[in-house]
Amino acid sequence: MGYKVAVVGATGNVGREIFQTMMERDFPADEVVALASHRSVGHEVSYGDDVTLKCQDLETYDFKGTDIVLSSPGAAVSAKFAPLAAAAGAVVIDNTSHFRMDPNVPLVVPEVNPEAIAGYTKSGIIANPNCSTIQMLVAMKPLHDLAKIKRVVVATYQSVSGGGKAAMDELFNQTKGIFVNQSPESNRKIFTKQIAFNVIPHIDSFMDDGQTKEEWKMVVETAKVLDPDIKVSATCVRVPVFIGHGEMINLEFENALDVDDAREALREAPGVVVIDHRQDEGYVTPAECAGEDAVFVSRIRKDPSVKHGLNFWCVADNLRKGAALNAVQIAEILARDYLSK
Ligand code: NAP
Repeated sequence: MGYKVAVVGATGNVGREIFQTMMERDFPADEVVALASHRSVGHEVSYGDDVTLKCQDLETYDFKGTDIVLSSPGAAVSAKFAPLAAAAGAVVIDNTSHFRMDPNVPLVVPEVNPEAIAGYTKSGIIANPNCSTIQMLVAMKPLHDLAKIKRVVVATYQSVSGGGKAAMDELFNQTKGIFVNQSPESNRKIFTKQIAFNVIPHIDSFMDDGQTKEEWKMVVETAKVLDPDIKVSATCVRVPVFIGHGEMINLEFENALDVDDAREALREAPGVVVIDHRQDEGYVTPAECAGEDAVFVSRIRKDPSVKHGLNFWCVADNLRKGAALNAVQIAEILARDYLSK
């Protein structure tokens, strides 16, 4: 017998990718339910190539009998419905930022801290980290095991799909508009500046100390998932790319680390693919990682400006490993090791 799974935010970027990922990985579901806002009731979403599901209203849905909820309706909506779903007996795996730092909610990247899933019993909720944190930690984990990371300096190049469907539409419409002499302002609702043919060093709101909330998430989520002793300095930048986040990562280690040993550890690490040839085309860009599951690592090289330093470039599909795949992997472990069916 399989599980009854509800996907909340079923019409969104992440929700649609969750259906695709579940189908591709043959998730053991007997029944799958699509939930979104009242605006989408009756709208059809695809579950694989052959099945379509009609969206139901999250507001009126009864979670009794639902085993697993894969959730991405935005933080405010999750804050309200997730505890209700958990109280009805479901385990909620939430993609939004709302529960990530709650001490009663495990924050999980399966390649890094799968053992934390056991903590789901405290609240019935498991959180997925931010997309930028997930790909960074998948790549950092094998190197931390090897030589103990002291500090990371990361600059992100984040695609617009991280901001949802409306953000993708804005890049598309603004780009098209510029070619027919429309002002970018006439096609600007989501981003704080023009995104077409531009980059914006600002994601999420500003905090009192000058960093943005997106940057802060990378700091505190690294501490919760990997190691509270690692110092993180992050700068998060939005770029005019539809899917796939890039990150330039600079690491400083406690112990000596040979570049070839680092490359080998990354090659063997689960979820990582190393493509690192020091020549034209010898690295991966966001356009190539869209639709892929792996975190790709390229441009691995020593940082000679500190005693034990390493630089590398890393890209991943933010809707896949940065959201849907990570959530489905957690659900797979939950189904296999913790829930009985
Ligand atoms: P999106 O494309 O804008 O989709 C939002 C989804 O939430 C839609 O299905 C929408 O349904 C639903 N929703 C909105 N208000 C609702 C309500 N009141 N009740 C029920 N459903 C409601 O956004 P997304 O990119 O999928 O992201 C969703 C969440 O995941 C966000 O919190 C985001 O931060 C997080 N996340 C995103 C990424 C990423 O890379 N995109 C990565 C990690 C985490 P309607 O169509 O009916 O409005």
